[in-house]
Amino acid sequence: MKKCIGILGGTFNPIHFGHLRIAEEIAENLSLDEVRFIPSANPPHKPTPQISAQHRTTMVQLAIKNNPKFLCDKRELSRSGASYTIDTLISLREEFGSQSSISLIIGTDAFMQFNTWHRWQELLQFAHIILVKRPETDTTQKPLSSSLEHFLRDHYTEDASLINQHPAGFICMQSVTALAISSTNIRERLKNNQSAHYLLPENVLEYIENHQLYR
Ligand code: ATP
Ligand code: MG
Repeated sequence: MKKCIGILGGTFNPIHFGHLRIAEEIAENLSLDEVRFIPSANPPHKPTPQISAQHRTTMVQLAIKNNPKFLCDKRELSRSGASYTIDTLISLREEFGSQSSISLIIGTDAFMQFNTWHRWQELLQFAHIILVKRPETDTTQKPLSSSLEHFLRDHYTEDASLINQHPAGFICMQSVTALAISSTNIRERLKNNQSAHYLLPENVLEYIENHQLYR
């Protein structure tokens, strides 16, 4: 069956309402059948997370359990070595076939480094890219590198209906409710014994407390 699938990859260290809200709004805007949250086992561009992939995955499962359109996809946990998105997309294509529409949801902060991702220029053969604006973090805004700017210009569309009509190949920007929440800030708050309530689901916070994570 031909499906429309959104993919939200991340470290989810821990998952928070910023992640959940972009998944919800993109699913609604683009009429997606499902959004797959794919925890990165070994993120290639980050130091090894202090919290195991298993804990991070369990937190994702707790966060999404009441939403029938949200799925936790553990395929990166069963691979060894760096968790490259290209490998994940190849494996998703094998599962869902060449006709399903697959969209990679990426925050603008992550997209700034997109041209350092493994085989980044091939990724659009396997999926669309949906860009969502990440509210200003304290990092100064840098311009896109020229290779990335060209890449964006060559594949960009304002017409979101193309996403459902084609299996892959377009870059589209979607506006979503801006939530300036980050896992980094949540980790810092927890370490300093500050409140993290209302930044992430309460059952995830309970899991964190029960397992004494981020102390
Ligand atoms: P960390 O601070 O540890 O990097 P994070 O909050 O950035 O964590 P990630 O797991 O790195 O979360 O993010 C996964 C994806 O979700 C990335 O594409 C990122 O840009 C996007 N994202 C995360 N938080 C938000 C947010 N508040 N608004 C929009 N996009 C977000
Ligand atoms: Mg991040």
